[in-house]
Amino acid sequence: MLARLRDVVGERYAFADPYEMRLYQYDASPETALPEIVVIPGTSEEVARVVKICTDASVPVTARSGASSLAGGTVPVEGGVVITFARMDRILEIDTENLRAVVQPGVVNLALSQALKPLGYYYAPDPSSQGACTIGGNVATNAGGPHTLIYGVTVNHVTGLEVALPSGELVQVGGRKSAEAIGYDLTGLLVGSEGTMALVTRIWVKIQPLPPVQKTLMAVYPDVATASNAVSAIVRTGILPAAIEMMDKLSIQAIEAASHAGYPLDAGAVLLLEVDGIPEVAQELGERMAKVCRDNGASEVRIARDEQERQALWKGRKGAFSAMGRLSSDFYVMDGVVPRTKLPETLAKIDAISERTGFKICNVFHAGDGNLHPLVLFDAFQPGQYEAVLAIGDEILKLCAQAGGSVTGEHGIGLEKRENIRYVFSDDDLEVMDRVRRVFDPHILMNPGKIFPGNGLQPSAVRYPPGYSRRQAVAGGEDLWV
Ligand SMILES: Cc1cc2nc3c(=O)[nH]c(=O)nc-3n(C[C@H](O)[C@H](O)[C@H](O)COP(=O)(O)OP(=O)(O)OC[C@H]3O[C@@H](n4cnc5c(N)ncnc54)[C@H](O)[C@@H]3O)c2cc1C
Repeated sequence: MLARLRDVVGERYAFADPYEMRLYQYDASPETALPEIVVIPGTSEEVARVVKICTDASVPVTARSGASSLAGGTVPVEGGVVITFARMDRILEIDTENLRAVVQPGVVNLALSQALKPLGYYYAPDPSSQGACTIGGNVATNAGGPHTLIYGVTVNHVTGLEVALPSGELVQVGGRKSAEAIGYDLTGLLVGSEGTMALVTRIWVKIQPLPPVQKTLMAVYPDVATASNAVSAIVRTGILPAAIEMMDKLSIQAIEAASHAGYPLDAGAVLLLEVDGIPEVAQELGERMAKVCRDNGASEVRIARDEQERQALWKGRKGAFSAMGRLSSDFYVMDGVVPRTKLPETLAKIDAISERTGFKICNVFHAGDGNLHPLVLFDAFQPGQYEAVLAIGDEILKLCAQAGGSVTGEHGIGLEKRENIRYVFSDDDLEVMDRVRRVFDPHILMNPGKIFPGNGLQPSAVRYPPGYSRRQAVAGGEDLWV
């Protein structure tokens, strides 16, 4: 197998050394599993040929780009081949007249905006991990970010994809145009499919002009409930800011210790708000928003005086997860969504879970769209703590679903939430999704073990008879999971 893969990508870019496999066993989630072979293709054609070799040998394939998945998306739970897109990191075309760019999947999100900046443009979806995650990974997870509140998540910015199918075919869905697209919206279907249907090898994205002015405000509140009510009040006025982010007391302490951005240490919560547009509009909206914040309990509203101060505030927010190292050796981050109006009661319930269990929980999140990121602090070296934290995560996701929300806002389902998906989908819903997936990947070789719960719709190690591997099952024509 290794020899055949090396024939395609060259000796250097396919390897199976056990030590090197360890470097590809993890992403930003707590789960790990070892691949058997890692391949780093350099072209779309190489990706397609590698996938075909794997399919012919019934070997699972897991895609890996920036490996910043918080849901265990890149963890190769069924072993097999990990295809990493590190070499496919070129911006192929920038077309400012038609507001499009064409990129390879391994292009780092921020690198695209940096390349566009001198031309006066940018790529709007901005995950907080944008310095590390890639457009390919963003497509696979349908990533969001602080500014997707007004501009929409990744699917709203992707007009076409080139993908390698498990059959080894290289096909294009959508393209440069979007409004005139005819037929099924296969681009929409593949965005967010987490590498379970096809591998993304080329992406057509929308780009947009940089806003002339961005006004960033920090509003200081005594507690998260008051701040949450202020968020609803802002939206009720009809102003839709470009971003509304919330950080609670513990988060502020961690962020300030790490970034010294000027967050007030005595605050119970802060909102980071941004409006953009032509100067007059941004100025007026900024002032109106500041007034609403004050009228709804803000003890202070600070407007960033210049770009440096604005960048410092955003650096603090975007570095929030890594700043948690100031408070705890380990943390477990959740990704639930609730209707905006349910924020105060959901946050109160999360607080109650923290009180009951004794685990500190920080909250730093995209408040504008109700996308919560509770971070449960723990010490992985203390026996039982990891299991306890997983149970807390499960309880929080159930709360979100019960509040009319969902179990993921942007990180994807991956490995982490494949059982929690039942809180929002029935068995019938899941079966339809499984049937759609099988149109692309009939033998479930593409990122197996992800998205679907282990109920027979999806391969799960516990279902194998002892000593009987999944690969043997598929190769023998006996698919245990049909
Ligand atoms: C500190 C921090 C902050 C974060 N903030 C945000 C945030 O604000 N918003 C947000 O949405 N996410 C956030 N994330 C999560 C993560 O960055 C996103 O899910 C991101 O989209 C993953 O991109 P990646 O390139 O790292 O993909 P990876 O982690 O490599 O892969 C993610 C998934 O995509 C699949 N995949 C990767 N490449 C391909 C491909 N070419 N074809 C098909 N499938 C592929 C993988 O198999 C996996 O299932 C954050 C993560 C961290 C660590």
